[in-house]
Amino acid sequence: MCGIVGYIGEKKAKPILINGLLRLEYRGYDSAGIATIENNEIKNIKNKGRVSELNNISEINSLNGTVGIGHTRWATHGKPSSLNSHPHMDNSNNFAVVHNGIIENYSDLKEFLKSHKYKFLSETDTEVIPNLIHFNYKNSNETGENKFLKAVIDTCKMLKGSYAIEVLSAYHPDNMIVVRKDSPLVIGKGENECYISSDIPAILSFAKDFYLLNDMEFAYISKNNVKFYNDKAIEINKEIKNITWDAGSAEKDGYPDFMLKEINEQPKAIRETIGSRISLDSKTNIDDFNFNKKYLQSITKIFIVACGTAMHAGLTGKNIIENLCEIPVEVEVASEFRYKNPIITQNSLCIFITQSGETADTIAALKLAKTKGAKTIAISNVIGSSITREADYTIYTHAGPEIAVASTKAYTSQIVLLAIISIYFAEILGKNPKKIEDLKNNILKLPSHIETILKDTTKIKDFAKKIFKEKDVFFIGRNVDYPVAMEGSLKLKEISYIHSEAYPSGELKHGPIALIENNVTVVSILTNRLLLEKSISNIQEVVTRGAKTFIVTNQELNHEFDEVIKIPKTNALISPVLSVIPLQLLAYYISKEKGLDVDKPRNLAKSVTVE
Ligand code: GLU
Repeated sequence: MCGIVGYIGEKKAKPILINGLLRLEYRGYDSAGIATIENNEIKNIKNKGRVSELNNISEINSLNGTVGIGHTRWATHGKPSSLNSHPHMDNSNNFAVVHNGIIENYSDLKEFLKSHKYKFLSETDTEVIPNLIHFNYKNSNETGENKFLKAVIDTCKMLKGSYAIEVLSAYHPDNMIVVRKDSPLVIGKGENECYISSDIPAILSFAKDFYLLNDMEFAYISKNNVKFYNDKAIEINKEIKNITWDAGSAEKDGYPDFMLKEINEQPKAIRETIGSRISLDSKTNIDDFNFNKKYLQSITKIFIVACGTAMHAGLTGKNIIENLCEIPVEVEVASEFRYKNPIITQNSLCIFITQSGETADTIAALKLAKTKGAKTIAISNVIGSSITREADYTIYTHAGPEIAVASTKAYTSQIVLLAIISIYFAEILGKNPKKIEDLKNNILKLPSHIETILKDTTKIKDFAKKIFKEKDVFFIGRNVDYPVAMEGSLKLKEISYIHSEAYPSGELKHGPIALIENNVTVVSILTNRLLLEKSISNIQEVVTRGAKTFIVTNQELNHEFDEVIKIPKTNALISPVLSVIPLQLLAYYISKEKGLDVDKPRNLAKSVTVE
């Protein structure tokens, strides 16, 4: 779970690699390193800490090569340290490798290599790779290009686990080999140069044409040519894809952090998610979907499977689908689903949500559902990401690149997309036309409602100043408000490191109320008119015990609370898209008050590509 970059061309590689690494740092950031080739020799500089610290090492300016690889690490095997940082070299210093992922059988491979007198400097799983390449290279009868290619292919066949790998060789100073299995990797093609990266935004300012590698496809790269091979070393054709994203959209646009920028981008993101998919006077249209009434009537259960914030979007999706389509929906955490032998049949429809499209648990859950005969739909924000190549159908949120580790705009656009899917199904099934009409009307108004909420955030900022030193915060809500409470609580944990818990409001008195004492903050979401009185009673119960209250509501309240944030009224099913915004901002401002790194919270990474 990290970032890798590569450059091969006519320019000096070092500044390009550093630039790419800085953009990839959100994926992992405990150490960084780069290697380039010069005069048939590999020069390797790596360090514990951020990319900026690597760039401050004076020797780094002596790297003049025009072929190079770089890495930011999110350690899985071996603590963050210079020795464990990538690139890793083989014992003869003729091969250098950067690796994203985990080699599951590394200890067996290490034993094997040790029996052939190889020595190991690091505690990583990765270090077996360059040494195996050396071993296979040395023992190969091939010559020239083929010798390098076959050594890498034979090595990959020995590896179990997930990897995106870049390989440099001092014997082949004008080339680089890259390969992936269950970890992302793309190749950008320019004029007499190629850029390699874990994702497109990191190199978008350099290239517009991209090759998207599939699992176990090997790219043999020269500055003006890329050849692709399968794992039998047979050359294959790959299409080049022109990407029209705007490079600026991956930058901060004047905001102090990506998270605040992304919170403020939600109106735009949701407009893009809606696109031309729904309109008031025609049926909902989703590209690539061709579901018919007979098939949808045969569906006895829908599963929504995801992790973290995406799972919270799924909980809201469940409410919408059950309400409009009258099909039971189960929401499952992907890491549980994949190991529990879920009861899936051909009459199950499974929806998988992952912003990055690279979430290892969610991809594995999808593969499992497919083996059981279910149809699978992937919801992702990243074009060409791994999950989109596994699913029967893919729908993109089109929220634009999300860089901050804590998800905001991806979450709200996932809910909107789930609402659009529900409407699409319900229209085909001929169910609930009145509800559909109201929901469509309200979905179209969401962007301007969010703009209204974002116009004045002073009250939220002030409340953050009051509570940022606290140790525990509780989030409560009923019905549609409960999944929002869960998401608000997760956001706070992620970026402010304050312990928080979410409960259905009615559940407090069954235990957790024992924790409420003078000055504990309780955040409550109140958007359901029918449950208003009951929810207010629950809040009164904590107020009586001395709690401070922060209320997010679209109702008129006749009670005194410490802070009340009013949000516009909308259809109850999609109210989470609005009620979550003040909670995102509350977490954001608390994190800022504490002086934390909002975009890169400790221990977390954006794409969770390991189990
Ligand atoms: N497993 C490798 C390590 O711990 C790579 C981790 C990563 O993807 O950053 O060094």
